[in-house]
Amino acid sequence: MIKCSISDVKQYEGQEVLIKGWLYNKRSSGKIQFLQLRDGSGFIQAIVEKSRVSPELFELCEHLTQESSINVVGRVRSDKRAPSGYEMDVIDVVVNQLTEDYPIALKEHGVEFLMDNRHLWIRTERQSAILRIRHEIIKSAMEFLNNHGFIKADAPIITPATCEGTTDLFEIDYFGESAYLSQTGQLYAEACAMALGKVYTLGPAFRAEKSKTRRHLIEFWMLEPEVAYLEHEGNLELQEKLVSYIVESVLKNRILELKAIGRDISALEEIKIPFERMSYDDAIKTLKNNNFDIEWGDDFGSPEETFLANLYKKPLFITEYPKHCKAFYMQPNPNRPEVVLCDDLLAPEGYGEIIGGSQRIHDYDLMVQRLEEENLPMDIYKWYLDLRKYGSVPHSGFGLGIERTVAWICGLDHIRETIPFPRMLYRVTP
Ligand code: ATP
Ligand code: MG
Ligand code: MG
Ligand code: MG
Repeated sequence: MIKCSISDVKQYEGQEVLIKGWLYNKRSSGKIQFLQLRDGSGFIQAIVEKSRVSPELFELCEHLTQESSINVVGRVRSDKRAPSGYEMDVIDVVVNQLTEDYPIALKEHGVEFLMDNRHLWIRTERQSAILRIRHEIIKSAMEFLNNHGFIKADAPIITPATCEGTTDLFEIDYFGESAYLSQTGQLYAEACAMALGKVYTLGPAFRAEKSKTRRHLIEFWMLEPEVAYLEHEGNLELQEKLVSYIVESVLKNRILELKAIGRDISALEEIKIPFERMSYDDAIKTLKNNNFDIEWGDDFGSPEETFLANLYKKPLFITEYPKHCKAFYMQPNPNRPEVVLCDDLLAPEGYGEIIGGSQRIHDYDLMVQRLEEENLPMDIYKWYLDLRKYGSVPHSGFGLGIERTVAWICGLDHIRETIPFPRMLYRVTP
């Protein structure tokens, strides 16, 4: 007997296969039962016809309940109406566990109930499709970087100080001393770039943000490439290439999942290089022309970002923000020191920021001056200053938020569905 996963059944048309999985749903029309099976790799409909199976098997199937774990032997048949193009005719079923009183019915539930049952909610077709797309996004991003000579060099999660200021930090007791959960791996990625040239870190980031929005998690994952001898323009190009590669990979490898969640695929097919660009100055003008109450020097909030992110079908770079809107380490534009060589990449369809990037200050004195201006503790940044002391070179990088990218590519309203177990304000369970 061939044991196969549902995603592979197409290779076995006409043959008998064994699928080990769970009963997702069941319909019956008297003489025929339609079992919808899932096994983690996908979904398939298995048909039990009274005239073709023993009375015992037919009766056993009548008693199967949602989420019972079962082994099903059946013959694979192509069927144009099935989403995956295949169905199977059941020959035998073995029950591993008959589930009783499964709490999540396949009907509408309130969000809080679903969040309380997140450990079960992720079994649904929609949630598992989102998590498979999440995997594809991470996999393809790493694939792109690995294929372009990047070394994965991870940053510590426990850090002595803050990257960008002391707000929103989770403090922990480190053998009697204060330490913090990392908000970004960037400073360490910079050190690794000076050692290895092109690197990336992929890790969790923690921000004790007291704001309750659709875009913010307390714990999220960030991919942070950092490259020595790379300047602002090259940094933008790297971001475009990476993001378009991710979208291309999802379209190529996860089309069934995109369809299962009802994503508008044509919107993703628009995501081609080059992306749109707009300077911060022009963004302010555009916002003012559209009746936003905003002045040069203000940072953008959600409404501004959503508006800008709705202007085009492709992702939009907003470049060269005022220095004081951004973190201390960003390189000022030499011709206009009040703005820095940075970018926010806004995803279209109103999604907003998925990446923040910049060229970093490589001049020692300038970095000292910026740390002083921001009142940051010089001793903690001593090692970071060393990078500007010994063989300093222009370098650039960016942070791509995995969950923001998942939300956009999947077309989700809320970031809570983008990660198996979201950590949000007022929720640390399950
Ligand atoms: P925002 O302006 O939306 O608060 P940020 O500018 O504070 O984001 P960065 O410090 O630039 O974020 O971090 C890089 C990327 O990490 C962001 O572009 C975003 O994709 C992601 N990110 C930041 N904060 C969060 C969060 N709380 N939850 C999920 N993703 C986040
Ligand atoms: Mg923020
Ligand atoms: Mg931002
Ligand atoms: Mg940012």
